[in-house]
Amino acid sequence: MSARGAAALLALACAASACGSTAAPAQPALRHAVTFDADLRSARVLVAIEGGTPRALRVARPRAIEGAVALPSGAALVTDGAGLAALPPGTDAVRYTVRLAALAATRDAEFPAAGLLVDPETLLVRAADGPARRIRARLSAAGGAHVVAPWAAGGGEHDVPPSVFDARGMIAVTPTPPLRVEAGGAVFDVAVLGPRAASDADLVRWLSAAAAAALPLGGDARPRHVQALVLPVRGASEPVLFGETFYGGGPALRVLLGGAARGDELPGEWVAVHELSHLALPRVRQADAWFAEGLATYYQEVLRCRAGVFDEAELWSRLRAGFARGAPGAGRDTLRRDSELMGARHGYLRVYWSGAALALAWDVRLRSEHGRSLDDALRAAARRFPPGAPPSDVAEILAALDAWLGAPFFAPSAGAALDARAFPDVAATLRDLGADGALPRDDAPLAAVRRAIAAPPRGSR
Ligand SMILES: [Zn+2]
Repeated sequence: MSARGAAALLALACAASACGSTAAPAQPALRHAVTFDADLRSARVLVAIEGGTPRALRVARPRAIEGAVALPSGAALVTDGAGLAALPPGTDAVRYTVRLAALAATRDAEFPAAGLLVDPETLLVRAADGPARRIRARLSAAGGAHVVAPWAAGGGEHDVPPSVFDARGMIAVTPTPPLRVEAGGAVFDVAVLGPRAASDADLVRWLSAAAAAALPLGGDARPRHVQALVLPVRGASEPVLFGETFYGGGPALRVLLGGAARGDELPGEWVAVHELSHLALPRVRQADAWFAEGLATYYQEVLRCRAGVFDEAELWSRLRAGFARGAPGAGRDTLRRDSELMGARHGYLRVYWSGAALALAWDVRLRSEHGRSLDDALRAAARRFPPGAPPSDVAEILAALDAWLGAPFFAPSAGAALDARAFPDVAATLRDLGADGALPRDDAPLAAVRRAIAAPPRGSR
């Protein structure tokens, strides 16, 4: 493309997206036009530089960049370890190609059964110097494919949230248009990356039910837009095999769906409820998995009972079974150390279910001694530590919760649980609730608390 061609293309892009139509003169921007090639092996990027020529442009994966050129000079640009170096004075645009296949080794790009997933930070440049500049991007794909970014689906130029440079995220390019789900107070753009037995309507029903169950945990601070990446896996025996959450560029859910999963197997499964509850709760660091995973594990059962997926007897049976799976992993080291080293030690069951046991203990004591609930506490926490914000220090969250309650409660009880080698003692709590046997007992001292945990809270939706 000639320099004149590039300028004309930028002018066209500007006219089509009505940029500059807002009244206030905005901060200068690096305005990216990204086009994915039809074979999804590469993406061509043209960047209009506002706010003067910087000395250099930083890129996340310089080795995946090729053919970088400064405009209007047409000078070839050198790629060093940090990005595009030594921009000639007067450069007001650059173009380059990102080799997507080269990003697969670092998991910055994935090639599922259909389409592509790529971390947006690998496509974008940032100025190494000069004024602070917004990052804007217009994404498109050759050959009629559809693009679903964490911040928005479809065309048009958008501001790219700074979180793309701090956290993992994925842009999806798919041959089929994204599905749209509105549930739980949020809008979902759902990219489905491969063939599957479940219909579009099945997927919408499944994610709607999970969102309606999980997102209200975050109260007013819940996410309002969620990108969902559904990757069908051929030959899988389970309906949903795995889930994870991303935060780079906006909250996102990624799930591995059994390719043969039938529509009626999906609503009520636990993975989507668990992951979406993460998106509605304050974020903490990986080392504090006991907090994030404990809450998500407790609520994956409680929320599905409240939604009518199973009855109260089944809820308590599932929690007891989970505690029984978590207990054998305890005893060797403190919960604190096992949580910090969870990935290295593979002590997932101990950490997840110890955290869930603490969540149950919190919920029971808040309800029986303080006239509140863990739902109330988490909505208060989410207001102070919004779920989409960077990870918070869990000690700060616990201190804020104690201030909310007006009593030292969360921090001391968490401290005792974290310093313990043994699995939290749940037997007495379950007995007091009347939840220690096959059928819930209404003659137990805390039977009303037990029923309240299982019942949908009023006014929470
Ligand atoms: Zn989790």
